[in-house]
Amino acid sequence: MGSRGSNVNVLVIGTGYVGTTTGLVLCEKGHIVTGLDIDDKKVEALSAGRLHFYEKGLPELLKKHLTEKNISFTTDVKTAIEQNDLIFICVGTPKNEDGSANLNAVYSVAKMIGTYMNKYKVVINKSTVPVGTASKVTTVIEAENGKVPFDVVSNPEFLREGSAVYDALHPDRVVIGSSSKKALEMMRQLYAAENSPFIETTPSAAELIKYASNSFLALKISFINQLARLCDNMQVDIDEISKGIGLDHRIGPHFLKAGIGYGGSCFPKDVSALITIAKAEGMDLSILEEVKAINQSQPFYFLEKVEKVIGGLDNKSIAVLGLAFKPGTDDTRESPSLVILDELTSKGCSVKVHDPIVTLSNPYVKQCKDVLDAVAGVDAVLLITDWEEYLKLDWEKVKSTVKQPYVFDGRNVLNKQELVKFGFNYEGIGKP
Ligand code: NAD
Repeated sequence: MGSRGSNVNVLVIGTGYVGTTTGLVLCEKGHIVTGLDIDDKKVEALSAGRLHFYEKGLPELLKKHLTEKNISFTTDVKTAIEQNDLIFICVGTPKNEDGSANLNAVYSVAKMIGTYMNKYKVVINKSTVPVGTASKVTTVIEAENGKVPFDVVSNPEFLREGSAVYDALHPDRVVIGSSSKKALEMMRQLYAAENSPFIETTPSAAELIKYASNSFLALKISFINQLARLCDNMQVDIDEISKGIGLDHRIGPHFLKAGIGYGGSCFPKDVSALITIAKAEGMDLSILEEVKAINQSQPFYFLEKVEKVIGGLDNKSIAVLGLAFKPGTDDTRESPSLVILDELTSKGCSVKVHDPIVTLSNPYVKQCKDVLDAVAGVDAVLLITDWEEYLKLDWEKVKSTVKQPYVFDGRNVLNKQELVKFGFNYEGIGKP
């Protein structure tokens, strides 16, 4: 994989999901990487070869590149900035209360770069940031250091948690927003081993491409989820509709699986941020307001179904399978599972949860290590995250241990015929 030899020295600031993956994938492509974080515990763990989050394939890459000395981790800001000419900003940009992106970490990093830069630097923004941030980062760096030349480039990241390594190694496209020929040339050199299409554009367009991509994917999900409600009413199978429309190349098959809605650290915050970006321009992006509203109500739609079918929730015992916002990650940020747990416990249910990776600190629910313990004696089983483990579950065994045979498939992934054969009452979303 990749070709060694170009040996560009790169600094990645922020060693979370994106920064660690970016750094290790750059190592795979032949570069020498330093990972910098303000959190010394993360730096310590990564330096010892331990990943502080779960992502398939990443621990192996970490061990390999630590052993080959292609990557190192540090909290030493001054040395890291002085010794690297290409600097990636990969810090978090969480949601403010008003829905806008919180850029405190990005600006604090920009200030750090301005303080310590000793020669020409290309500052590459990989964090998801509103239009105009590249120019604000430029202003912040200039305010600290008016002498040393530098360029700011926007290079948004499109990886998906759960398949981050594959996505970062094989991106559908690489978007580079820059108005500097020199910086563009250095970016081309950095990504020389890349076979993916390159989009060279302005920093503002690059910033907007990222928000528009995530918002469009969220829109597809909310579209199919709302359509699934209509399907429930009309006794039509939403999966047939998804297949029928998805085979049209103009539509495509992806992100057309009905379920309990999207979550995670990106879609909810990026949809909200784009809405606020439009508002600040005095423009209307009401289509995204609707996307967001449908998504927020989808877990409640699911729970109404549960409540109706099993005859109320009070004093019921419920098994919740899956906490992560999707399979392949331990990330529960904005996961629909959290809304569902809150609602179930506040309505008087006793709740047992299981997740192959996530451990929850919620005193109101019982976390089970074994999925069969979670389903034992319950009135209903709710599938919330479509982990492979649940698809392969011995449902005949499950049937022998539950109190009542109700299965609610929040991801439309279980085999209804098989479950019915074992005596379950199966309910999906938009599944007659
Ligand atoms: P994260 O919270 O996992 O990691 C951010 C890291 O930055 C943390 O380790 C934190 O300690 C560190 N940090 C914060 N302030 C710092 C500072 N001043 N100096 C050094 N380190 C600092 O976040 P993430 O999920 O990796 O996301 C980073 C950015 O990438 C966000 O803008 C996000 O929207 C975007 N993004 C995320 C994904 C994803 O799937 N997670 C995908 C594409 C884009």
